[in-house]
Amino acid sequence: MTKVNDLEVGYDVPALPGMNEADIQTPCLVIDLDALERNITKMGQFAKEMGVRHRVHGKMHKSVDIAFLQEKLGDSCGVCCQKVSEAEVFARGGIKDVLVSNQVREPAKIDRLARLPKLGARILVCVDDLENVAELAAAVNKHDTQIECLVEIDCGAGRCGVSEGQPVVDIAKAISATPGLTFSGIQAYQGAMQHMENYQERKEKIDIAVGMVARTIDMLKAEGLECDIVGGGGTGSYYFEGNSGVFNELQCGSYAFMDADYQRIHDEKGERISEFENSLFILTSVMSHTKADKAICDAGLKAQSVDSGLPYIFGRDDVEYIKCSDEHGVISDVNGALKINEKLKLVPGHCDPTCNVHDYYVGVRNGKVETLWPVSARGKAY
Ligand code: PLP
Ligand code: MN
Repeated sequence: MTKVNDLEVGYDVPALPGMNEADIQTPCLVIDLDALERNITKMGQFAKEMGVRHRVHGKMHKSVDIAFLQEKLGDSCGVCCQKVSEAEVFARGGIKDVLVSNQVREPAKIDRLARLPKLGARILVCVDDLENVAELAAAVNKHDTQIECLVEIDCGAGRCGVSEGQPVVDIAKAISATPGLTFSGIQAYQGAMQHMENYQERKEKIDIAVGMVARTIDMLKAEGLECDIVGGGGTGSYYFEGNSGVFNELQCGSYAFMDADYQRIHDEKGERISEFENSLFILTSVMSHTKADKAICDAGLKAQSVDSGLPYIFGRDDVEYIKCSDEHGVISDVNGALKINEKLKLVPGHCDPTCNVHDYYVGVRNGKVETLWPVSARGKAY
């Protein structure tokens, strides 16, 4: 069981289906499949109750297998991704509805985007500049394809997107007047509030965004332009957009795995949000314990992103991950509880960039490795 189809455990892959969980090679990403399935099902039910579609954000897991699971268990309507190369992975993998929730401006990337519908998928992209309309039109006409466009509003994140109202209408009109392009609605993701700890502060930010979007929809309507999609929302805000009566598509990503950063945000009662479980872990092994009060594990910077803080050790309050360098993690172990080769499950500080530094997800259930899923769009940053 250490080699199948020339894939060798511990060299090419961290594990193979059928193996015992105890034999997984570290450091690697492990998924608790039961928890993942519960998270996906739960969000699917929320979306249904709120009467909105869920276009899951594929940039989080970059996995075609998980996108299909979200379709099956969570009734997702498609995926978002941030990059053309990422979109290509999902479309090639068989996902039929793919939104690049980002601007595409570089000529080579526009050309590649314009070819994507040939893979048999509905392809959408965000636009925030009139000049981009002409660029996209030239490419779809060259390839004889069709692309749908969402005009992006900057609803408070200070990133991409135009101001509400007339700038949106101007771009929407240009899109709808252009052969090969379809105006399909509005992209309004408020990325700057998702991780704010206070519920009321998060709500205020989304109330502002909802106002901007509602006013803009009315202006578009007055010009005869309907929005098929009004999209936005993430793990820290979906209940606001979902219940707004204005948004009709959510775009959550992290809810499926969760991470330490998202677990710091509070719900209405001031309690930690607990509706989603940790399903993603960095499995690591203790490799040195020469200091009485510190253990060293094999998951350092190359196994995770610490931009949103260090990981914590799942299910243990006697030991703490306190420092990391390239290949090592330092664990405070004041009671000297940890043994060499003992395995620990780290909850990553930030799931998205952590997934991007691994080749595989090892799916585990009942102590056995059940699946080995590639991080299909790993490194697809173009
Ligand atoms: N939509 C867009 C455009 C995003 O960039 C993101 C994440 O940054 C999300 C939605 C929400 O993702 P998450 O649920 O992981 O916060
Ligand atoms: Mn993130």
